[in-house]
Amino acid sequence: MREWEQEVPLIIERGKGSTLIDTEGRQYLDGTSSIWVNLHGHRHPALDRAIKKQLGKIAHSTLLGLSSPPAIQLARELIRIAPKGLARVFYSDNGSTAVEVALKMAVQYWQQRHPEAGHKHTFLHLKLAYHGDTLGAVSVGNIELFHSRFKPLLFPTLEAEPPYCYRCPLTLTYPSCQMACVDPIEQILKTRHHQLAGFVIEPLIQAAAGMLIQPAGYLKRIRELCTKHNVLLIVDEVATGFGRTGKMFACQHEGITPDLMAISKGLTGGYMPLAATLTTEEIYKAFLGKYEEFKTFFHGHSYTGNPLGCAVALANLEVFRSEKTIERLRPKMKALSQLLKPFCDLPHVGDIRQQGLMVGIELVRDKKTKEPYPLKARIGHRVAAAARNRGLLLRPLGNIIVLLPPLSVSRDELARMVEILHNSIETLPAD
Ligand SMILES: *Cc1c(COP(=O)(O)O)cnc(C)c1O
Repeated sequence: MREWEQEVPLIIERGKGSTLIDTEGRQYLDGTSSIWVNLHGHRHPALDRAIKKQLGKIAHSTLLGLSSPPAIQLARELIRIAPKGLARVFYSDNGSTAVEVALKMAVQYWQQRHPEAGHKHTFLHLKLAYHGDTLGAVSVGNIELFHSRFKPLLFPTLEAEPPYCYRCPLTLTYPSCQMACVDPIEQILKTRHHQLAGFVIEPLIQAAAGMLIQPAGYLKRIRELCTKHNVLLIVDEVATGFGRTGKMFACQHEGITPDLMAISKGLTGGYMPLAATLTTEEIYKAFLGKYEEFKTFFHGHSYTGNPLGCAVALANLEVFRSEKTIERLRPKMKALSQLLKPFCDLPHVGDIRQQGLMVGIELVRDKKTKEPYPLKARIGHRVAAAARNRGLLLRPLGNIIVLLPPLSVSRDELARMVEILHNSIETLPAD
């Protein structure tokens, strides 16, 4: 904070497409999609229009005991595009709360639907996980720097090693490892399932952990094991949802359906804070009963399912259809991997990870030994500062440089972003 006080802050006043413009009129490419939310670019006419149109009707009315046309229509649309079997939508207003909702729903589900199962109220999750900043989400997260201070406030959970292939905790190599990292997970599910309400995971790619990509088949195995051992699979698609990985939802790469799914970030195309937790008819039914049974899910935020948010989310999904966003991603993903190839030759680039339009570049002090830079060297920060001077905004995760352009990014913009990134990494001293 002290440094921030001394810096000249960058104040963004407007935006257009992939470009942000500050109060001095300087232009920057939005290399983070405004922290992973923007999809179709800033000031997209259809999205702007949707908000204005809804504003002409009403800005907000509560979803507690009432509903609204945009909330109803959006729920319908979400069910249509979500992994098959997800049939019910519970709104909230940000990614963390969508995860909190999933955790609470899972615990209450077991109590009401399977009281004979006993005390299933803990969760399994991966190490290095990030599921948001509220305390329940932090409890199922494991990012030391963000979370360690709050340990006394967190509920206990079970943890498993993530598939971090570049630094395999088992020092094995894919595919000859045969995904041996799943074995300890199976062991935990087998021996502790009577305690476990759910397994919380980001599907396909652990984003805030540093863009850690799960090998093909991993998520499917996890789904099978959760089913076998009677543990709910809770997927956090807050970062991965809405096309970011190359399909509408990351689960769809592995053809699986979770029991609960949290979505937010891209839900409104990056326009408004809105979130939802999707679930199955089976879980929904556990919350039905006579009034005096009090089976209600007691959870409702003031701005839950905000009509402006739902209206722009509907427009967002419409743009996916009218602009064929997903189909048009394929050549961009290919172009991006081509553009990233030369990075292998940079002396401090240890690993390049790409899934769809999500990129993590792990910088290391020593390429041969994979020796990491110490956090205090602020390597990511230095690269981001160099990029900012060249007109690209980034926000690294420690030593991992993240590039996450809007899905609407043009080939030229993509090439420009990657060029700036390359030049910025090159500014690091070679030692
Ligand atoms: C951003 C994020 C969250 C938290 O969402 P907020 O809207 O910031 O509360 C949760 N999970 C994942 C995977 C995220 O990327």
